[in-house]
Amino acid sequence: MFRCEKCNKVTEPREKLHRIPITYKDVVYQFTQKKGKNEKLITSYGKNISKEINLCEECFNEILRGQDENFQK
Ligand SMILES: [Zn+2]
Repeated sequence: MFRCEKCNKVTEPREKLHRIPITYKDVVYQFTQKKGKNEKLITSYGKNISKEINLCEECFNEILRGQDENFQK
């Protein structure tokens, strides 16, 4: 049993928990590497999931439908 973070409903014990990431943040890592006299700037990119929320079956399906609609536009 858990509380849905979208509709705040407390779900039935048998209901499946869906966890979805809601924000992706692009992260840039930059550091210098010293090799003898040379200094090299290394840049790497990554993605951070900034938050995951718990969703009930109903809200999860709603989000899936929303994504379908966006896709068709
Ligand atoms: Zn919900």
